[in-house]
Amino acid sequence: MLRLKVVIRGAVQGVGFRPFIYRLATEMRLPGWVSNTSEGVFIEVEGARETLQQFLFRIEREKPAISYIQSLDSSFADPLGFTSFEIKESMKGAKTAIVLPDIATCPDCLREVNNERDRRYRYPFTNCTNCGPRFTIIESLPYDRPATTMRKFKMCAECEAEYKDPLDRRFHAQPNACPKCGPHLELWSASGEVLGVHDDALRAAAVTIREGRIVAVKGLGGFHLLVDARNESAVWELRGRKQREEKPFAVMYPTLESVKAACEVNELEKRLLRSPESPIVLLQRKPNGDGLADGIAPGNPYLGVMLPYTPLHHLLMSELGFPVVATSGNLSDEPICTDEHEALRRLSGIADFFLVHNRPILRHVDDSIARIVLDRELVQRRARGFAPLPVKLDEDAPAILAVGAHQKNTVASSVGQQVFVSQHIGDLETTQAYEAFGRVITSFEKLYEFTPQAVACDLHPNYLSTRYARGADARVIGVQHHYAHVLACMAENNVAAPVLGVSWDGSGYGPDGTVWGGEFLAIHNLGYKRAAHLRTFRLPGSEKAVKEPRRTALGLLYEMFGESAFERDDLPPVRALSSEEKKVLRSMLARGVNSPLTSSAGRLFDAVASLLDLRQTVRFEGQGATELEFRATEADESDEHYLVRLQGADPIVVDWAPMVLSILSDIESGVSKSVIARKFHNTMVEVMVLVAQKVGMECVALSGGCFQNKLLTERAVTRLQQAGFRVYWHQRIPPNDGGIAVGQVMAAIRELKNGEKE
Ligand SMILES: [Zn+2]
Ligand SMILES: [Zn+2]
Ligand SMILES: [Zn+2]
Repeated sequence: MLRLKVVIRGAVQGVGFRPFIYRLATEMRLPGWVSNTSEGVFIEVEGARETLQQFLFRIEREKPAISYIQSLDSSFADPLGFTSFEIKESMKGAKTAIVLPDIATCPDCLREVNNERDRRYRYPFTNCTNCGPRFTIIESLPYDRPATTMRKFKMCAECEAEYKDPLDRRFHAQPNACPKCGPHLELWSASGEVLGVHDDALRAAAVTIREGRIVAVKGLGGFHLLVDARNESAVWELRGRKQREEKPFAVMYPTLESVKAACEVNELEKRLLRSPESPIVLLQRKPNGDGLADGIAPGNPYLGVMLPYTPLHHLLMSELGFPVVATSGNLSDEPICTDEHEALRRLSGIADFFLVHNRPILRHVDDSIARIVLDRELVQRRARGFAPLPVKLDEDAPAILAVGAHQKNTVASSVGQQVFVSQHIGDLETTQAYEAFGRVITSFEKLYEFTPQAVACDLHPNYLSTRYARGADARVIGVQHHYAHVLACMAENNVAAPVLGVSWDGSGYGPDGTVWGGEFLAIHNLGYKRAAHLRTFRLPGSEKAVKEPRRTALGLLYEMFGESAFERDDLPPVRALSSEEKKVLRSMLARGVNSPLTSSAGRLFDAVASLLDLRQTVRFEGQGATELEFRATEADESDEHYLVRLQGADPIVVDWAPMVLSILSDIESGVSKSVIARKFHNTMVEVMVLVAQKVGMECVALSGGCFQNKLLTERAVTRLQQAGFRVYWHQRIPPNDGGIAVGQVMAAIRELKNGEKE
C-alpha cells in the first residue's frame, strides 16, 4: 500500500476536473481526496503501486477534453489509511506566488504551426496559456506581460484580441506572439554577419547541420550546440572544440518513433519523454547499433535522449529528419550561454553558425535529466520543466536561503510552506559559474520578495558557496554535507525523524577533519549522529586522486598492506603508475602529506574500477563508478556477495578489507570482471542491510551521488524492504549535490526551531 500525491497545474480549473478525478478514483476504488487551490489541483489517493501508476496514466488519457495539463508533479509516500474518496472544499486563503516552469509545446500549438492555413504556420515562437516560456522570461511577480522579457514586443490587433478573450486559448498568455508582432529568427555567421532571417534562417541552419557543421541554436533557456549525431567526424570535432573528452552527449530525436528504433522505451519512459517537462531521459541503447556516431557516448550502454520541446526545435527537427547532438552551448564546466552577442564571443571557435532570435532569456535554464528507477522518475539534473516548482512543507518555515554545495550547485529558499529550488547552476569552478550563482540568488530574492533570516551553507570552508554565505548580511548556519543529503530525501518524501540516512557520495567535509562519503547518519529530532561509516583510507594527492582511480586504489591497498602495496605489480593500479609516480606517492603516503583520510563510498567504487582495470584515470566525474555499474549489469543477476566486517559500535566501522581480499583472489582466479562488479554491488547493498539491522531504525533514506546508480538503488531498496525496513529514495530532487540546497534549508529550519525551544 502506498499513498500517491499529485499536484496538477494547467488548465484544470473550471473544466470539470474535480468531478472527473472523483469518478476515476471511485471507479478504481482508490480512497483519498481531491482539492482545488490557487496553486493547482491537489490529489491524494492510496492503493497498490500498479493501480496508482494506472491512475496516473488514466488521468492523462481520459482527462476532460478542454483541460490541459501543464505539469503533473507526482510522488509516493506512506499511506495514511483513507477510507473513502471526497472532494474537499477549495482551499482559499493567500495566493502563494508560484512561478511555473517552462512548458513543452502543447498539441494545439503544434497543430497550428504545421497548418499552412494558420497565421502561425511555421512560426517558431508560437505558444498559448498551456505551453511556452515562463521561468525563463519572468522578471517579477505577478506574472504579467510588462514583467516579462516579452514587454518589448507590442501585440498586433489579432494577438491582442486573443489575449483579451476569456474564451480563447491565449487569454492572458503572456508570451503570446505571431509572425507579425513577435520575436523572429536570424542566422548569423561566426563573425556575426546576418545570413538569413525568419524561415530562411531556419532552413539554412538545417542545411549547414546536414553538411556536418556545428550550429549554436538559441532556444528556450539558453544555447545548444547542434551537430548531426550520425556524423562521426563532426561529433569528434565538436568534442575537440568544446574541450569535452568523453562525457556523453545528449541527443535530440525528431520523433518518438525514431527514438524507439534506437533505444528500449517502456511506457513510463515514453510518458516522460513526451511530458510537459520533456527532460533528457536516460534510455538503454538497442544492442544492434542505433546509427549514431561512436563519439556520442563512447562505451556507454545508455543514451540521453530528448524530443523537441519548442516550436523552433519541432520545425528544425522535422526539417532534418535525423537525430542531432544537442549539448549545452558552453565550454566544459561553464554555464550555458543565453545572449546571442555573448554567444558570439564565448562560442566563437566552437560554433560555425548561430541560429538566434531576439526574445531575451532572463534566466538560463538547462535541460533536465531524468531516468526511470524502480518504476518512478528519478531526476538527476533539475532544470527546465521542473525548476522552480517547490517542495511542500507541513508547516510554515522561517525564511532561509541555502546556497548549496560546490558541484552541481543549486540554491533554495523557504517561503511560507514552500521550499523553492533553483534551476541547476553547475560546478562553481569558473568565474562565469560563480557569477551565474550570484545572479540566481539575486533573482530569487527579487522574485519571491524575501529577505533571508539565515543563510545555510556547507561546512566546507573553501567552497565558493560557503564563502558567499559567510559574506552575507544574515546569520550563517553551516550544515554537514551528508546530513543535508539525507534531510533533502526526507523532505521530498515527507518523512519525519527518526530515520537512518545512508548518505553515500564522492566527498564532503567531515567535522572530524576526514573526508566523509560513506556515512550512515541516525537522524533524530534535533540533529544527527554518525551511526556508522566505511573504514577510512588515504587519498594520495587528494583532488588528483578523484581524477585518477589508480591513486585511490593505491591508497586502499596501502591501508591494507602498507609499504608492500607498492610491490603488487600483479595489480592493474600499481602497474598503471610509473616508478617516478610510485616514488612520489610512497613518500606522500608514508608521511601522510596531502593524503587525507576518507570514508567515501564513491572512492571505493573508483578503487574497485581501478583494480578491475576498467578505469585508471577519468575524463569526467564519476566515470569509474559508472563503468563499474555498466559492467555489473552485464553479469547474470545473482545474490552472490563478498564478506565485510562490522567493527566497534560508536560509530560502527564497516571494514571492506575482507571484500577487497576476495576481489583480489577472484581477479587472480580469472573470474570475469562483470561478475566481480556484480558481487561488489551486492556487497555494498548487504553493507546497508547489515548496518541498518544493527542500528535498528525502521525508516531508511538513501541519498548522495552513489544513488544515481540504478543497479545499486534498485537492489538496495528491494533488499532493505525484504529485511523489513521502510525505504525512501529520491524522485524529484536529485540524489546528487543538486539536492543539497533543499537539505540545507531543512537543517537550518531545525536549528532555528531548536534555538527557540531552548
Ligand atoms: Zn500551446
Ligand atoms: Zn501578433
Ligand atoms: Zn554530496
